[in-house]
This record gives sequence, structure tokens and C-alpha cells, in this order.
Amino acid sequence: MLDTLTSRLSGIIKNLRGQARLTEDNIAEALREVRMALLEADVALPVVKDFIAHVKARALGREVIGSLTPGQALIQVVHEELTRLMGNQVADLDLATTPPAVILMAGLQGSGKTTTSAKLARLLKEQKKKVLLASCDVYRPAAIEQLRQLARQLQVDFYEAPEAVRPVEIARAALDFARTRYYDVAIVDTAGRLAIDQEMMDEIRALHEALKPIETLFVVDAMQGQDAVNVARAFNEALPLTGVVLTKLDGDARGGAALSVRAVTGKPIKFVGVSEKPTGLEPFHPERMASRVLG
Ligand code: GDP
Repeated sequence: MLDTLTSRLSGIIKNLRGQARLTEDNIAEALREVRMALLEADVALPVVKDFIAHVKARALGREVIGSLTPGQALIQVVHEELTRLMGNQVADLDLATTPPAVILMAGLQGSGKTTTSAKLARLLKEQKKKVLLASCDVYRPAAIEQLRQLARQLQVDFYEAPEAVRPVEIARAALDFARTRYYDVAIVDTAGRLAIDQEMMDEIRALHEALKPIETLFVVDAMQGQDAVNVARAFNEALPLTGVVLTKLDGDARGGAALSVRAVTGKPIKFVGVSEKPTGLEPFHPERMASRVLG
């Protein structure tokens, strides 16, 4: 874990050698650096403040044992707390219900919902599940076409909705289709907008009501950084989310969004997107993300 620290943090750590206990004074500089590291990783400011206060409370008075310096002891606390805040363990999908288990995808346009729907379908197909993909994005025929093509490429069934029907009707019909044909899982992609608006939230709430999904996944772009917080809050208030997918982690985002989104929603990050390809989906590892966020 200590290998992953920035040289800046290591510098601070060296300065603090030879002190037996963590005190306000000897951790102040290191905490400032941690704060900077988190802000640079795009963790939202209120989340950073809370986090630093929490780490400080836990660290003060702690004995520095073994060969650690106070700086290293503090970084250990920081790493532990980051990992804890991000959920400690890998959280899997929960599909334990009478089939079809419905997965509802929510998020802004461009966040990666459609791509992630296909990635999940691929993953579940590999687990020998019979999967149906459906799209309720009636506003963007290109989005429907994108999912249809991905389904074809992955050899997963795609629900062909009759044209000119409303999203909720498509959802109900897709669910019926999945039920009568004994699908294990139905993944339902939804329309996103470029920004949060009431109409989109009303629609996704109605879809949730109609589908009663066992998983409602909020898809968010890691590159969105600070903005991810407001979007996450809005979706979390509108819907009983069950998990988060953080996409585009193959970009140079340090992943601070993971921390912010988790802090704001309290919901586990279940997967991360690591490429545009259907294979680019991985379980979320809190411990690895903690290292990435620290830099
Ligand atoms: P939607 O509007 O939410 O359905 O978003 P899309 O699934 O269409 O994704 C928007 C863009 O992001 C597309 O160009 C995707 O290929 C790309 N994308 C989605 N997930 C990832 C990811 O994990 N990594 C990378 N590099 N690109 C991604």
C-alpha cells in the first residue's frame, strides 16, 4: 500500500520520523497533503472535509508502532478509512428473485448506460443466464440501435418494441416478454439527459414502479469528477438505487468520484468500466480504489 503514495506524501512522511504518537502538530502537514491529494482526485469538497475530520479523530493519540513514522501511521489510517468508506468488500449483483430478475439502468446521457447494459449482459451470459436486453430510450433511436447492435454482437436477445409507444409501456411489454419466455435476467436501459431534469426523473421513477427491479444501477462517468456528486444525489433521491457503476476508469480520472458517489448515496459501487469494449467491466475493489485516489 505504501508503494502507491505520491512522492509528495512520502516526503511528508520522512519529515515525521522518530515520534512516538500521532498528535495535532505532527500530522497537520500530512493531513494537508492528503486533503490536496483528495481534491486533486476530484473528491467533492464536503466529502473531503468530513473525511479529514474523521481521519483526524481516529488518528490522534494513536501510537506509532514498529518501524512506522507518524506520517506512515497516518497514511495507514487514511487508507483504511478510504477503503471503509468505499464499502470494504466487493459487492456483487443481487439477482436472487423470481425470474426474470430485472436490472434497471439509470444515469445521465453519455454516462455509459448502454455500453454497461451490454457489458452486464455479456457477464451474465457467461454465467449461463438467459438474458434479455431492452431499451426504453424512445427519444434517441440511435441509442436503441446501439443496444440492438451490441446485443447482436454478443448474441444476447434484444427486445424489439413496437414503434411509437411510451417508455413505461415498453418496459411492461419487455417484462411480459421476459416472463413468458423464461428469461433469467432482463436488463432495461433508459433514456438519460445531458443534465438532471424533472421529466427524466419522473420517467425513470415510473419505469421503476412498472418494473420493480431487483437491481437499480446508477451509472456515472468517473471523468465527471466533482459534478458526479450532484447527479448522484438527484438519482439517489429519485430512486431506491441498489448500486453504482463507475465508468471510464481507463481514462486518467483518479477516481475521486468513487468516494463522493459512495458518500452521497451510501450505495455500493458494484462495477467499474475500464474500456469501451463489452469485456471492459470489472468488479469494484475498494482497496485498489483507495490507492488510486491517494495517488
Ligand atoms: P449512455 O448515453 O449513458 O447510454 O452512454 P453510452 O453507453 O452510449 O456511452 C457513451 C460513450 O462512452 C460511448 O462512446 C462509450 O463507448 C463510452 N464508454 C462507456 N463506458 C466506457 C468505459 O468504461 N470506458 C471508456 N473508455 N469508454 C466508455
